[in-house]
Amino acid sequence: MNQINQIYVDGQFVTPHGTDLFELRNPATAELIGHVRLGDESDARDAVAAAKAAFPAWSRTSKDERIGLLTRMHEAILAHKTELLDAIILEYGAPVSRADWMVGHAADSFIDAARALESYALEQTIGNANVIMQPLGVVGLITPWNSNAGFICSKLAYALAAGCTAVIKPSEMSAIQTSIVLKALHEAKAPAGVYNVVNGRGDVVGAEITRNPDVAKVSFTGSTAVGKSILREAAGTLKRVTLELGGKSPSVILDDADLSQAIPLALQVGLNNSGQACINGTRILVPEARHDEALAMIKATVDQMRAGDPRNPATVIGPMVSQTQYERVQRYIRTGVQEGATLVSGGEGHPDGEGGYTVRPTVFANVTNDMVIAREEIFGPVLCVLTYTDEEDAIRIANDTPYGLYAYVFSADAEHATRVANRLEAGRVSINGAPHHPDVPFGGFKQSGIGREYGVFGLQAYLEPKALLGAVAA
Ligand code: NAD
Repeated sequence: MNQINQIYVDGQFVTPHGTDLFELRNPATAELIGHVRLGDESDARDAVAAAKAAFPAWSRTSKDERIGLLTRMHEAILAHKTELLDAIILEYGAPVSRADWMVGHAADSFIDAARALESYALEQTIGNANVIMQPLGVVGLITPWNSNAGFICSKLAYALAAGCTAVIKPSEMSAIQTSIVLKALHEAKAPAGVYNVVNGRGDVVGAEITRNPDVAKVSFTGSTAVGKSILREAAGTLKRVTLELGGKSPSVILDDADLSQAIPLALQVGLNNSGQACINGTRILVPEARHDEALAMIKATVDQMRAGDPRNPATVIGPMVSQTQYERVQRYIRTGVQEGATLVSGGEGHPDGEGGYTVRPTVFANVTNDMVIAREEIFGPVLCVLTYTDEEDAIRIANDTPYGLYAYVFSADAEHATRVANRLEAGRVSINGAPHHPDVPFGGFKQSGIGREYGVFGLQAYLEPKALLGAVAA
């Protein structure tokens, strides 16, 4: 049993004032695997006070000092790689290869942020002014369960690189991962108070951070509904916000695409992270004339995908994170059937021989873009196949969504794909499966969010320009 009874405030592991316990379960089996003791508002306030006290000294550190700490943090996470990998599989149910990617993302965030800082001019002359980029102050970092360790590390890395100090509110459902990340980061010996971590409920600890007048900014990754409530609460103190929210991303397969290449890639981005990724391409748009051919290929692949035990190297789709998520996905599958879409693969229930919160990878055809399953983020391995008549129709359908996080375009001709990509309303468009790059900005158009993370854009999100008119450059 994992009993996680401590939070991290002012450089020390301490017992929170809050006494509520939250159950942790193995999603592959639904077995109880531990508890986390949740902090309350007073714990959040203590953490903010520690971060506030640490800010003056940390904000004045040199680039070299910050890069030194980030490098030690990178090494510390790598030193606990196996333990972290194991926790992500146990607690979240990520298949081994995915968990491995997540650990790499967590560790590499620190050197990515160090590289951004190294290349970034914190000071420049404009007209008669010396313009300096100053750290915002204490920042609140709130993370979701679907890549908790990775988001703790990436948000913290860029905040520290900028010279901010931080209070982190991780997902309460990911407390085992958080405890390992904390143990590792403690070994990197940051000055006390530069980062603090309070486990707790979103509407208690998260809300206190969002309201607290000593917090200058909230960087939040999570659902669009909670993102909107954070924006409303943050208005009280005019906090800066970065909001990384949900998606319903299109995968546009153009009429000249080689289906034997495009379909496997579209399925990979559609079902990545067992369907629990904000960037999943969950609406696959195919030309009407090639629908039958495309659908046959999709069905043949998805029917053979192994879903279940994440420790089995053959598993592609792990379980959903919780009973709540499992039921939510089941409801959407029923909705798809009720609203007249054709169930092609998968369906309700568990795959044969698998339990826990594992769902069957599911594909619906004959989906129209006004159906609930095409409009709402399901956050499970459920794909919609839609047809379009011509390219204008494809672009119209792709953009007909309140979201705008990612889009994918597949074509035999990169110039053709680029022309279409330019017209898609999304913060990132990947052409023919081009992967994530850590220096490239990431974030949403429309209701997928506000602001950008990663690279120099991610660094700037923790800085505020200040113009010294008539000053002499330092
Ligand atoms: P969630 O919004 O329920 O919770 C996210 C975090 O916010 C958790 O730590 C939660 O405790 C906290 N929270 C909840 N209520 C709060 C409140 N009132 N004030 C402050 N904090 C509060 O999201 P989730 O279910 O953990 O994660 C899944 C969602 O995250 C999906 O919608 C997914 O698309 C989104 N997501 C987005 C990105 C991105 O980069 N755009 C990445 C991953 C996940």
